[in-house]
Amino acid sequence: MSEKEIMASANEYIMNTYKRFPVVLVKGSGVKVWDVNGKEYLDFAAGIAVCSLGHSHPQVIAAVKEQIEKLTHVSNLYYTEPQTQLAKLLVDNSFADKAFFCNSGAEANEAAIKLARKYAHENMGPDKFELITMKDSFHGRTMATITATGQEKFQFGFTPLLEGFTYVPFNDLQALEKAISAKTCGVMLEPIQGEGGVNIPDEKYLASVREICDRYGILLIVDEVQAGMGRTGKLFAYEHSGIKPDIMTLAKALGNGFPIGAMLATDKISKAFVPGNHASTFGGNPLATAAANATVKTILQEGILEHCRKMGDYFLLQLKKLQGKHKIIKDVRGTGLMLAAQLNIESSDIVNECLRRGLLIISAGSKTLRFVPPLIITTGDIDQAMGVLDEVMEGK
Ligand SMILES: *Cc1c(COP(=O)(O)O)cnc(C)c1O
Repeated sequence: MSEKEIMASANEYIMNTYKRFPVVLVKGSGVKVWDVNGKEYLDFAAGIAVCSLGHSHPQVIAAVKEQIEKLTHVSNLYYTEPQTQLAKLLVDNSFADKAFFCNSGAEANEAAIKLARKYAHENMGPDKFELITMKDSFHGRTMATITATGQEKFQFGFTPLLEGFTYVPFNDLQALEKAISAKTCGVMLEPIQGEGGVNIPDEKYLASVREICDRYGILLIVDEVQAGMGRTGKLFAYEHSGIKPDIMTLAKALGNGFPIGAMLATDKISKAFVPGNHASTFGGNPLATAAANATVKTILQEGILEHCRKMGDYFLLQLKKLQGKHKIIKDVRGTGLMLAAQLNIESSDIVNECLRRGLLIISAGSKTLRFVPPLIITTGDIDQAMGVLDEVMEGK
């Protein structure tokens, strides 16, 4: 099919839930992807912070190939080795003692919300079920996770929402403490807000949230679906603040493009789940967990985290230089390779112009450019992207 035919056919047969860019991608390798006409793009979107090891990573491909020829799926009614290995790998490298596997970020957050409620029901009493979440947060598109998401634009038209959620501004400790009531069982937040605009926590914010949760005897759930898996230069973003959460969710980069999500928790909290409480047919199947095992091992073994920190520092410095040159950039910020440029104009013009010039970037909200490239990028890739941005911003 030609590019035109694919786009026309997609618009005819696929539900209209995405505003897609007018490009048909067919191939990827490392930091590059190619469209159906053979045009090359530098991919600084990485499938929205998913392909952290770059496209077609040899170790991930090898692991999936090997596993698909052995065993693809059986069901969680049986033990399998890849799922067991992944659970141990994540537990050994985090605060957590136990893992539950699912297929996406929303599902991981659903599992976290259910576990928090079940734990609270049994240990705090049936009247404690409320979660405090943050304004401008994003936790997914299911009914429970759009309710948890503190942005009306994701909730509009889908009411009634779930009971038991209340919202406070990110980085506002006073508002958080004021919102805690006799019904509160926990706080759920992204350590760095992704979709809401790459919002960075103040220096001691997460440590103070932890302290407040401890003082009131409530749970702290961190949604690391976007910021986790090395994106910020540590395996998990909570590590930057020296705290330990009670529950954590993962997805996006966990399988480097293979769909998988996970919810992790301490032993004490995990005990609230017993057989029959929660499940997922595909969750943690051998193929998905083989991909994730290869991904996590590569991130941990190949100096990816250190490289990410170095590239992140370099990238931020270049963004600051760009800010000095172009008045439309109001602010630049980020940690590791989760970066943003806050504009004083709509970001879509810039994003579309970059696409035309062979650079894939995305927005976070209407006026923020978001940069979540593969963690394997080089200074050369960053320079190339900066060159394109510089050109595109010229005269704006
Ligand atoms: C993307 C995202 C989700 C939702 O993940 P899906 O896999 O799309 O369901 C949840 N939380 C955060 C922080 C995200 O960035």
